[in-house]
Amino acid sequence: MEVYSAKFVTSNTDVSKCPEPDRHEYAFIGRSNVGKSSLINMLTNHSKLAKTSASPGKTQLINHFLIDDKWYLVDLPGYGYARTSKTQRSQFSAMIKNYILKRENMVCLFVLIDSRHEPLKIDLEFMEWLGENGVPFVMVFTKADKLSTTERMNCIAKYHEGMKDTWESMPITFMTSAETKLGRVELLSYIDELNQL
Ligand code: GDP
Repeated sequence: MEVYSAKFVTSNTDVSKCPEPDRHEYAFIGRSNVGKSSLINMLTNHSKLAKTSASPGKTQLINHFLIDDKWYLVDLPGYGYARTSKTQRSQFSAMIKNYILKRENMVCLFVLIDSRHEPLKIDLEFMEWLGENGVPFVMVFTKADKLSTTERMNCIAKYHEGMKDTWESMPITFMTSAETKLGRVELLSYIDELNQL
């Protein structure tokens, strides 16, 4: 699948103000600075569709983009940014949780994880929460251009190790790089498959 058009639709803080849930929707989430904006721009072939964050944690909105007049791509706020206040953090999580649990047309959540780091508690706990709530998601490792092939395999293995006690089977995993476009075809094909359902 190729992306021909990508248009910004709305930004808001409330799931009830999102566009009509009349088409499939795929949301992207991850820790601040994980490379979410870069990945969205890489997938949509736009250099500036999602704003790459000079100051991480700034995007606190649910951003909807309409892709090829067919499906919505959603840029969710980053979670777990240490420099935001406690109140702000809990607002993020209430907003994110509400969106994830209530958005009926959200087909799959793409959980972005920085491939350069050891498994982080915040990511593992977030995925555990998704599992407990029956939210369909896949894991998307970012910045893989920084890793060798062996390091990429080790990265996935470590996450699987960290998750094996909680999960019967592992979520689908993608290895990506916004720099080299690694994983672009695979991610878009996956969305295309889900769009056929
Ligand atoms: P966001 O806060 O999750 O939206 O992250 P950004 O897309 O703004 O990226 C955060 C930082 O990581 C920026 O300095 C990017 O240039 C860098 N970055 C993002 N994606 C990649 C990637 O695939 N490879 C490399 N090497 N750096 C990346």
